[in-house]
Amino acid sequence: MTRGDSAGPRLGLVADVHANLQALEAALAWLDARGVDDVWCLGDVVGYGGDPEACVALVRERCAGTVRGNHDAAVVDPSLLSWFNPHARQAAQRHAEILSADAKAWLDGLPWTLDLGEVALVHAGFADPPAFDYVLNARQAAVELAAQPARWGFVGHTHVPGAWRRGEDGAVERLSLQGGDEGIDVDLPGKVLVNPGAVGQPRDRDPRAACALLDTRTRTLLHARVDYDIAAAQAAARGAGMPAIEAERLASGM
Ligand code: ZN
Repeated sequence: MTRGDSAGPRLGLVADVHANLQALEAALAWLDARGVDDVWCLGDVVGYGGDPEACVALVRERCAGTVRGNHDAAVVDPSLLSWFNPHARQAAQRHAEILSADAKAWLDGLPWTLDLGEVALVHAGFADPPAFDYVLNARQAAVELAAQPARWGFVGHTHVPGAWRRGEDGAVERLSLQGGDEGIDVDLPGKVLVNPGAVGQPRDRDPRAACALLDTRTRTLLHARVDYDIAAAQAAARGAGMPAIEAERLASGM
């Protein structure tokens, strides 16, 4: 665990950028328009999309910290590719070919977790970060919330937005992320675990880029879906030699 020095009161969270530069720029613009202090990245900067080098550069420039995703790990450690389906593997291998040595060295140095005090970040799950477990339901969320070292935890990995709370009695409930312009109240007893959803490859049938803004002063969380130039991202993916499915799926959000 490392402690972030620059955790500001309004924290932006971006997950699963997946080399989609158009989506990342749109999500950052949305966060900037709301006066974000620091942006934190929940991993999977690369994999699937057309602009891995530019996305690594923009995340390095804009994010105060980034945790290690399974695609970030796989482009520097080919032994991990056996976990991937054939088109994900093909995309990661292509990224390994085209990424600069400097970008790969940065990816190779990403931490498993970041501990910002009231906030903790991990790509998949706190219980066993290198296992890259999935949190899609309350049963899986309960495992991660039990291990979560901070009041508010953030994960990515599933590409599906979700939020869960573990009460002081240990019971876990799903929270709605629908809070409108006010956001949802996260000043709740116990711990809250949030997946903001994917910036660059949503899989909840909403193709817009997803991100979140935690305001630690008002104790509220805003969840956003942001329109971006999907056709340009698809053209970039095709131009970089990604499997056709990785461009096509951006239009359906699956
Ligand atoms: Zn991912």
